[in-house]
Amino acid sequence: MTREKVLRGLPGRGKMEHTTTARHFIFGREMCKIGGHMSDLAPTVLLSAEDVQTRVKALAREISREYPPDEDLHLVAILKGAFLFLGDLIRAMDRNVTIDFMAVSSYAKGTTSSGEVRMIKDLDSGLEGRNVIIVEDIVDTGLTLAYLQEILHARNPRTLRTACLLSKPSRRKIDVKVEYVGFTIEDRFVVGYGLDFAEKYRNLPYIGVLNE
Ligand code: 5GP
Repeated sequence: MTREKVLRGLPGRGKMEHTTTARHFIFGREMCKIGGHMSDLAPTVLLSAEDVQTRVKALAREISREYPPDEDLHLVAILKGAFLFLGDLIRAMDRNVTIDFMAVSSYAKGTTSSGEVRMIKDLDSGLEGRNVIIVEDIVDTGLTLAYLQEILHARNPRTLRTACLLSKPSRRKIDVKVEYVGFTIEDRFVVGYGLDFAEKYRNLPYIGVLNE
């Protein structure tokens, strides 16, 4: 899809983002121009809204099949990036589920991952004896997920698995197990469907790549 089509699909965004200040931020290995016109920033579609919806529904079916309906299923979404993924995943599950949220910070704005993970919000309830699935937006180096799996495992769930919408295997620094992967992608910085750049783009219904 061309950038023009993307913009047409999002009425008003060009106006909203218009600014005359041009600044540059380095984020990971991508350099993105912030400021100028929105057309500089309109993400190029990598995975369309339809692709995402189809895959998330398939993942929901796969997960539902593997947990008998009479067993509990507790989904722990990692904020903020996984909130849309969780919402669509559970709406496609024809069974009882419970949910909880945890927030961690692994990337300081404008830098690459340091490998340090800081917990910002803990879960509301314990995990002892429960079937738990960590719901994460993207696994990149794997450091965040390795940390999450370790601390959640220590809370003695009955089972602990992980569902990630996206995976960038070429970036991995640590071998981390992910039972459910939506899409495997190349080393590109992606936004949309919950994923942000400087807190923007989370509301896009598709996964896009920012243009330089
Ligand atoms: P990891 O610890 O695996 O390197 O990084 C995981 C976290 O980094 C993700 O939960 C996400 O917040 C952020 N991240 C990694 N790659 C991307 C990306 O391509 N786009 C966005 N928006 N965030 C990313």
